[in-house]
Amino acid sequence: MKTETLEKLQAAIRDIEDFPKPGIVFKDITPLLLDPEVFKLAIDELIATLEGQKVDKIIGIDARGFIFGAVIAHQMGIGFVPVRKVGKLPHDTESVAYSLEYGEAEIQIHQDAISAGERVMIVDDLLATGGTAAAAIELVKRLGGELVAASFLIELDFLNGRELLGADVPVHSLLNY
Ligand code: AMP
Repeated sequence: MKTETLEKLQAAIRDIEDFPKPGIVFKDITPLLLDPEVFKLAIDELIATLEGQKVDKIIGIDARGFIFGAVIAHQMGIGFVPVRKVGKLPHDTESVAYSLEYGEAEIQIHQDAISAGERVMIVDDLLATGGTAAAAIELVKRLGGELVAASFLIELDFLNGRELLGADVPVHSLLNY
């Protein structure tokens, strides 16, 4: 990535301290979404993490992964699959429960969203502890999908989320903190 691009992306992420609870620094991506030039740079750089590899579908994680994932799918001319929080998908689902810092969470995918052997890319705005992305990877594997990349706009390196995703998963992030 060009230094100029990196600087524009960094400048468009706003730190909000103590949100949603004390001690958390929330990475607010809404300034980036507001700026059409920087939003496009982010999309282009996320697509570039594929390094020209062919993919059949983009998997976006609820909810900010939808924003980036849907635009990437549209730009690449391929299908988009939402991975949603439990209870939101209306048809037959596959589910994975996982641990959060406090308590449990569960995400779901439609069983017919990925066919066995399809090559997919997972997209989310931010990789923190990796619990959410690891659960999404498990959903993709259960449906027989082949994970080409898990790409994030932001990675919080100090939480080591990457380690939870497995050595066989190509993980990419544009901005590291
Ligand atoms: P995790 O499962 O811990 O990797 O958390 C990842 C999910 O939580 C992503 O979908 C992020 O959108 C959100 N998230 C976690 N930490 C932050 C943070 N510091 N700022 C913004 N979003 C966050």
